[in-house]
Amino acid sequence: MRDLFKLSETQFSELAARVKVETARRTRAATAATDPGVEIKGQEMGKRALLVALAGPHSILFLGSKDSGKTVLRALAASFGHLDTFEHRLCPCGNFAAPSRACKCTTRQIEATIRKRPIAEITIEIPPPSIRELESECKGTSREDLQKQLDRQGPRPERFDRFAESLIKHALAELQLTPRDADAFRNVAQTIASLARLLPLASAPTTPFRRFPQLLN
Ligand SMILES: [Zn+2]
Repeated sequence: MRDLFKLSETQFSELAARVKVETARRTRAATAATDPGVEIKGQEMGKRALLVALAGPHSILFLGSKDSGKTVLRALAASFGHLDTFEHRLCPCGNFAAPSRACKCTTRQIEATIRKRPIAEITIEIPPPSIRELESECKGTSREDLQKQLDRQGPRPERFDRFAESLIKHALAELQLTPRDADAFRNVAQTIASLARLLPLASAPTTPFRRFPQLLN
């Protein structure tokens, strides 16, 4: 440490600059090592769906264009030990729904690709993060935040109240779900209610799969 006082002005400035760079690098590395959630830009809907999947637990499928963030969300799930996750593109080239890359796939190809998706209890479309999200200094939901919400999870309600029943009935009819799909739908709704600590169930989830509702059945 005493050597520090023997350094010339120039040597000292250079050392100070290197310390600054190294401190920033270590801070980034430490944050990434302890909280993979913070590294994910945007994707708050995807993280919310992941929270429900972890709370169930439920299988989850992330559907999106190339580089939309599907893989990092699966890595975040894996950091909780949840491996029942899938990812799937929206078209053969992977650019459909990507804002800055052109997709030349036909509607038929896109529909066929989506039809071939793995079936999971939760399907969530992952849009690529916007420029605003990419440039944002806001850290968004961290792994620690998700863990806190999981720790606060209440019991699963066994029945639905009348309002929730009619909401679910309408959603099931609109999506033309099979009885098996309907069971999964109610199961996920119970998990969402347990996260919100609602007893009896007072709200039901809306489908995140809006773009192609006709392909859900
Ligand atoms: Zn394409």
